[in-house]
Amino acid sequence: LTTTAPKSPASTYDLLPFRFAAFRGQDYIVTNLVGEYAILPRGILVDFVRKALPRSSATYTDLKGRHFLIDDPSSVALDLLAAKYRTKLAGLASFTGLHIFVTTLRCNNLCGYCQASAISPDKARYDMSMETGLKAAAFSFKSPSPELKIEFQGGEPLLNFEIVRSVVARCAELNREKPRQLEYVLCSNLTLLTEEVLSFFEQSGMFVSTSLDGPEELHNKNRPTPTISGYRTVVKNIRRVQEAVGKSRISALMTTTRSSLVFPEAIIDEYVKLGFSSIFLRPINPYGRTTAAASECHYSSAAFCDFYRRALHYILDLNRKGIYFREEYAAIVLRKMLTPYGTGFVDLQSPSATGIGVLAYNHDGRIYASDESRMLAQMNDETFCLGHVDDDYVDVVCSDKLVDMISSTMLESIPGCTDCPYMMYCGADPVRHYRLQGDLVGHKPTSEFCAKNMEIFRMLIELLEDDRSARDIFETWVH
Ligand code: SF4
Repeated sequence: LTTTAPKSPASTYDLLPFRFAAFRGQDYIVTNLVGEYAILPRGILVDFVRKALPRSSATYTDLKGRHFLIDDPSSVALDLLAAKYRTKLAGLASFTGLHIFVTTLRCNNLCGYCQASAISPDKARYDMSMETGLKAAAFSFKSPSPELKIEFQGGEPLLNFEIVRSVVARCAELNREKPRQLEYVLCSNLTLLTEEVLSFFEQSGMFVSTSLDGPEELHNKNRPTPTISGYRTVVKNIRRVQEAVGKSRISALMTTTRSSLVFPEAIIDEYVKLGFSSIFLRPINPYGRTTAAASECHYSSAAFCDFYRRALHYILDLNRKGIYFREEYAAIVLRKMLTPYGTGFVDLQSPSATGIGVLAYNHDGRIYASDESRMLAQMNDETFCLGHVDDDYVDVVCSDKLVDMISSTMLESIPGCTDCPYMMYCGADPVRHYRLQGDLVGHKPTSEFCAKNMEIFRMLIELLEDDRSARDIFETWVH
């Protein structure tokens, strides 16, 4: 954006840091350090940059209120901007809050897209031992974070239920010594749900996350089980968990395969029918079996965005009919756009949340920088292994490897991201870029992660700008 005109002699304001890019037609998007945005016609943007905006204009007032310009010699406005910036990044000070326990690699499902490269159920050597589980619990409590989320993953964690139970008991003990806000989540296909497990969920306050890919035919195609209809079992057991511990303590995740792309409405209807109030529309990951089954499951980021757009509009229509229902990825991004707060969502952090927002303890005691990092380890790549539960906590979290990883994942210094107006809504995802493009930073013009996110950010901003009812609905998703 260039101008040859001289700077206006009437200039009485200074510019605060901002990024900009063409948005649509002659309109540009400008965003600032705290994620505030404005859509400006090109001519207004030129005037703004030349410091030629009239003080009496509504745009001037708006841009001043949103910290794009400053015309006051006092430090009040800058102090406020700094306070908002600190609030956005407050999560960094807490350090690692999410601790993932890979209690076993065994699984009784045969999902073609499995990210964890799950092993068949008879191989007990892929289970976490009691000793490793207890050491991992102690390791996680070394984190200074005032909030700890202990998440049990697999494989299928209920195949090693004793470890889940013992780790929860140990964490409860540790929490009595130095209390934190402690939360447990178990990610399960729910095929092994028993009354004993249900009563454990009730007593421990466990949150349950299961997998539901949509209607029966689609779910069973994506997530085959050797002998039973996975769909019927998971639906029956979702209802049992809802009755036992309440609807708010169970959620479901879907994975979008190529087969899912034509069914956004049916997938959402399935979630509504089961009493869920939200869905996370999750693209397929490039880890584990996904690679071998790429021809069956994979698709372009453009195809995912078409699916996502159709789904989002369908969800908005449901809300307009009085059915409260939320898309979780949109809600995370909208919180970044519409509130002063950050989010703990690990894929959208700068610097990356690897190690400092999340640690994953594999079944064998090795510690990884994220869940995806240990998935990569199942593909014989130990790039993101940080140590072992026998190691000293400080040695692991202050290792050169982790420090290098964090310093390479500041979007503020990454080519492509540093000038991107969507930077404050986005994240680094070094494991995905390493997997797909060979380095932690990645090449953004050809990055699928970048293409998908940029499209979704634009989609949400267009809806916020053009559709009053969509904006009203989005407000209810973030407050
Ligand atoms: S990854 Fe893409 S969308 Fe995200 S900040 Fe970087 S350039 Fe922007």
